[in-house]
Amino acid sequence: MTRDPYRIWISEIMLQQTRAETVLLRYDPFLRRFPDVASLAAASLDAVLVAWEGLGYYRRARLLHEAARLIMQRHGGIFPSRFEDILALPGVGRSTAGAIASIAFGLSKPVLDGNVRRVLVRWLGEVPPMRVLWDEAARWVEAASSPGDWNQAMMELGATVCLPRAPRCLACPARDWCRAQGALAGEMRPRKRPRPLALIVRLYHDPARGIWLVQQPQGGIWGGLWTPPLVQASSPPSRRPDCVHLLTHRRLLLFAESAKAAPQGPGRWSREGRFALPVGIRRLLAAIGWENRL
Ligand code: SF4
Repeated sequence: MTRDPYRIWISEIMLQQTRAETVLLRYDPFLRRFPDVASLAAASLDAVLVAWEGLGYYRRARLLHEAARLIMQRHGGIFPSRFEDILALPGVGRSTAGAIASIAFGLSKPVLDGNVRRVLVRWLGEVPPMRVLWDEAARWVEAASSPGDWNQAMMELGATVCLPRAPRCLACPARDWCRAQGALAGEMRPRKRPRPLALIVRLYHDPARGIWLVQQPQGGIWGGLWTPPLVQASSPPSRRPDCVHLLTHRRLLLFAESAKAAPQGPGRWSREGRFALPVGIRRLLAAIGWENRL
């Protein structure tokens, strides 16, 4: 188990919104490309976004890059060891700061990610306000002889035993003091999925220059990333989509539309994978046989 704050930071940020199986595939290649804070800070944002491909929620990669530069400027390239300094890094919230501070530096700081929250709610047998849950998480970690091990064990318990829909109470080491023991298993059911979103993907290809890309506005789907021009269809075309892509919160129906007309407005050509493309767009290009045109 690593105590290197840089490696812990990268894994915690990756795990924030990406499934552990996906993170396992991307973590080592990312660290080979950026083995330390200095290499991450010195890289271009485009290079970081390319290395982040497949992890989704690219805002995290942008903030990671920003934070690495801040560590170079404010802390001389040494990962900060004070909780307040860790918490001040872009993209690091209280729970992530708690994980880094406890695992890398042995500080008694609580973690309250989705998994730990579910475990504590069940131990208490009720769903209290977040403030109470933070107090509860802090109380347990302060009593632990090894805060980092305690926080990791809690995250692991939530991820593998105290599962959202079917907690494995018979195999749980916390059975003796857990008030719920599975009785509240349904209290955090995911909300109903919103309707699928139909997108027309306008593809312009120039044999010498590649595919035409535009930058998506911040805040929308794939905000800040470069993609072929997208048009949201108010009602989906009557044909089958060329690609159906699942985001964690939305199902996208992607319809390719090739055009010969020269592109208008700001944008850039992409060849040889210079820019990070969302996985959904890569899958669409593969589905229509355009993957070699990048
Ligand atoms: S006993 Fe069941 S509900 Fe309670 S913490 Fe363990 S797995 Fe979760």
